[in-house]
Amino acid sequence: MLKSKDLCKSFLQCKNIASNISTISLRASLCTETTKDLELKCWKCSKSLSAKNLFCQYCSSVQKPNPRDNYYDLFDLKLNYLVNSSDLSKKFKQLQSQLHPDKFSNKDKEEQSISETYSSYINKAYSILQNPLERGLYLLSLQNISIDEDTKGTDQKLLMEILMLNEELDDSSTIEELESLADTIRIAIDELTKKINISFEQKDFILAKDYLIRMKYFTSLDTKIREKRNQLELQKHS
Ligand SMILES: [Zn+2]
Repeated sequence: MLKSKDLCKSFLQCKNIASNISTISLRASLCTETTKDLELKCWKCSKSLSAKNLFCQYCSSVQKPNPRDNYYDLFDLKLNYLVNSSDLSKKFKQLQSQLHPDKFSNKDKEEQSISETYSSYINKAYSILQNPLERGLYLLSLQNISIDEDTKGTDQKLLMEILMLNEELDDSSTIEELESLADTIRIAIDELTKKINISFEQKDFILAKDYLIRMKYFTSLDTKIREKRNQLELQKHS
């Protein structure tokens, strides 16, 4: 992607990467040629750091997120679509126990600010990696692929299927009916999860994108069903 390494002193300001790409890890992934050589230094004492350290081994100050790391690196996970949720939550708790801003209340302002940024970065990464739809979209984003927000170009058969399921949802007036519809959606999402995983394994990102578009519609239906179910439960108990 880079024509001249000289132009790219840092991927954060790299003129060869579109300025609207603001995600640090995405910018880094687009600029791996130069970031591979980027030496990490402690912001406080300027000594060289090893990549995996959250804290400087010399002055103990908390370090900023490594710009070369994507969310998977952050959690020591392989770049696969399927993730082990117990590994993920274990690592999340471990990172938050080290970086939570409460731990920095008697440190200087700069360290407090870094821990806040790092901690919210970890929360964001965790919420994305936990969610099958968001995780798939994130993996696509690492390939510089995104899905369109509008429905133009979306498979008409899929749109029709979703329309009918939405009608079925509107017509459902009992918890039993909603549960039966929820089962249908859950089966569809499970099937899609398997297909998305295979597509990523085969590095067929275009196919993965198609399945993720489907998953987006089914996930949104799933949310609507839950909301309606909660409303019905509330009515039942009022
Ligand atoms: Zn240091």
